[in-house]
Amino acid sequence: MLTANMHYKARFGCKMYKASISFAKTCPNRDGSKGTGGCIFCSAGGSGEFSSCVKKNISEQIDDAISQVSKKAGPEAGYIAYFQSFTNTYCRPEELADAMAEATAHPKVKALSVATRPDCLPDDILEVISERTKKIPVYVELGLQTSDDQTAELINRCYETCVYDDAVKRLKQAGANVITHVIFGLPGEREEQMLDSVKHCVDAGTDGIKFTCLYVLKDTVLEKMWRSGEFEVLGREEYFDIVEKALKLLPSDTVIHRLTGDGPKKLLLAPVWTADKRSVINYINRRFA
Ligand code: SF4
Repeated sequence: MLTANMHYKARFGCKMYKASISFAKTCPNRDGSKGTGGCIFCSAGGSGEFSSCVKKNISEQIDDAISQVSKKAGPEAGYIAYFQSFTNTYCRPEELADAMAEATAHPKVKALSVATRPDCLPDDILEVISERTKKIPVYVELGLQTSDDQTAELINRCYETCVYDDAVKRLKQAGANVITHVIFGLPGEREEQMLDSVKHCVDAGTDGIKFTCLYVLKDTVLEKMWRSGEFEVLGREEYFDIVEKALKLLPSDTVIHRLTGDGPKKLLLAPVWTADKRSVINYINRRFA
């Protein structure tokens, strides 16, 4: 199992921490250009409740993020400037180029990571990414969640899986390292579909993967579905049983960036076990050591 820590140590020679920043302010699945209301599980913060104040410039936000972990990280640590919330390539190419250049110029930043949708990577944006990869390693995180187009419709993802396949190919040609997000426990999905999603990412050529257990946040469409009993969230054992099977499907050089995620505590409704980070980490260490 190739973990992100192992990968970063080999690539950068040190432990790497993410410095989350707010750059994008919306996504095409919210402003009406692809859809409205967003993906059914996504909170108003666009999956980026952890990043610093959007009013500050990029380098100030990086400073803020670093100051929060620097005591634990120590002086040898490196940082990845993480463009986390919403869709960070949903902007003019010049804006992205400037923001990436500012993040690159920060003395502690050794890599960039850009979260986006596969349908927001036109050629001029790819050109910006390609140019940036000549100066600093660039990771691009794609929110696929599932390869099943029927589930994708149900969660209001608003793009077809073939768009993801094409995006992976073009990003790799541009020199980016691709990380794919997959969610286990989406409404109506059986284990077989979840594992098919993992196989799909591997076949598409993703370099890394992030697994997340579906969690229900306040004021989302998913909250209404969960409250009306349309689906049940996964229990801890049930979720990690699926993760264990998924790990067996990954080639040895696929980097595992995350085995599960934890939603923002103030918004999290279920499953509650995901909120107890320490106990989840202990469980993972026991089970996957
Ligand atoms: S998950 Fe991403 S694509 Fe979906 S609504 Fe939220 S920000 Fe937009």
